[in-house]
Amino acid sequence: MLKYNDHATMNRWDNENFVHPWEGMEAIGHNERTFVEGGEGVYVVTEKGDRLIDGPGGMWCVQIGYGRDDMADAMADQARQMAYFSPFNNAHSTAARLAREIAARTPGDLNHVFFTTGGSTAVDSALRFIQFRNNLLGHPEKKIVISRHKAYHGSTYLAASVSGKERDRLWLDKAEGLAHFLPDVNPLHRDEGTSMEDFLDQKVQDLEQAILHLGAEKVAAFIAEPILASGGVIVPPPGYHKRCLEICRRHDVLYISDEVVTGFGRLGHWFASEEVFGITPDIITCAKGMTSGYVPMGGCIISDRLIDEVSGAAAQGATFSNGFTYSGHPVSAAAALKNIEIIESEGILDHVREVTPLFQERLHALSELDIVADTRGMGLMGCVECKMGDKTSLENDYQLGTIIDAHCQKNGLILRPIINMCVFSPPLIITKTQINQMFDILQDGVRAAMEAPA
Ligand code: PLP
Repeated sequence: MLKYNDHATMNRWDNENFVHPWEGMEAIGHNERTFVEGGEGVYVVTEKGDRLIDGPGGMWCVQIGYGRDDMADAMADQARQMAYFSPFNNAHSTAARLAREIAARTPGDLNHVFFTTGGSTAVDSALRFIQFRNNLLGHPEKKIVISRHKAYHGSTYLAASVSGKERDRLWLDKAEGLAHFLPDVNPLHRDEGTSMEDFLDQKVQDLEQAILHLGAEKVAAFIAEPILASGGVIVPPPGYHKRCLEICRRHDVLYISDEVVTGFGRLGHWFASEEVFGITPDIITCAKGMTSGYVPMGGCIISDRLIDEVSGAAAQGATFSNGFTYSGHPVSAAAALKNIEIIESEGILDHVREVTPLFQERLHALSELDIVADTRGMGLMGCVECKMGDKTSLENDYQLGTIIDAHCQKNGLILRPIINMCVFSPPLIITKTQINQMFDILQDGVRAAMEAPA
């Protein structure tokens, strides 16, 4: 049931007035979209009343599931009491308490939270903070950021400039000279006969050689998602992040761990950097699962060491002139606090660790299907990559994800198709029965795509 008007009218308004993210310009004006009007637990409800399991958990973000009254109440209470106050010169206790709660859950000395409006602004703020720090410490030439092929760090100018998905860069400009990209870290693409250990050595050498080639005095930071999420859930070889951090330390290069997707429980821990990958980076960025998507919020969490370097006597009157009207927004902060409380009191991190083996087992079982070229994942993140034809060209495969998604939607599952891949990150509360349902539907969807006319 649509909240406003009939489908034809809404679709027309949507076409005529709403520019969607990643809008394909050819289809603008005549898209036919499904309106999703409700949600409950792991399900979204379409305008027709169809209940679909939400495979991508919104956009890697709806950790605690949809339709929670306690979440709505926490936000409403805060809005009634104090909806907004400027964070520039004054403080707000809800945001202060949230910063404290987050600092209590981060690794090492990552104790300072700079609140943002989402993931892109978190990454942008991390990059601006590093520029600020290096200027202040007298190293204005130390500015290059090393990123990776297929990385996604956001859509603001700096964040997009360090993102490495080529197709996203075709029509847009980027900050010149800012970023350097390392080659593919996907073990699937390693040369035939190369062991995982040798591949790891190569990938670590890629980073060190890039630093040496560019000059350590010019390289400010390395930015990495623990698992490249929208690049296709690429899990780097075991030990990769630890060894990259060692190299960063050796060359005085800061390490930004972009946990916008992996933070807040996706891999069964508050943050994956330390608990899963054994590293304490210099900065962690987060967003998405921070509020379970109920309201926008992000953060860039900075170490004591970095804050010490740029504060006190060293600051020489300097101001970090970066911030948002909505930094630490009280309603978002109230939602984030309630989200933490729910995750904790309902044992959701333990639950993720408990259901992960089934999720991963069912995911990998799909590799038996003819068109499945790879299955990969970790925690409650997964990707199925498909390929038709001679397996050397993607030409015929661009629509595969969309074809599979269309089949699955008819049977009760919504996916996130990316070219020839489908990625998953369901709400963290998903049960074992729902995981089995999800993969049963997906398996049928992949089979149907195999039979679909080219
Ligand atoms: N970083 C990562 C790893 C992401 O996956 C995303 C979004 O998908 C972002 C940053 C940008 O976040 P947002 O869309 O909230 O700006």
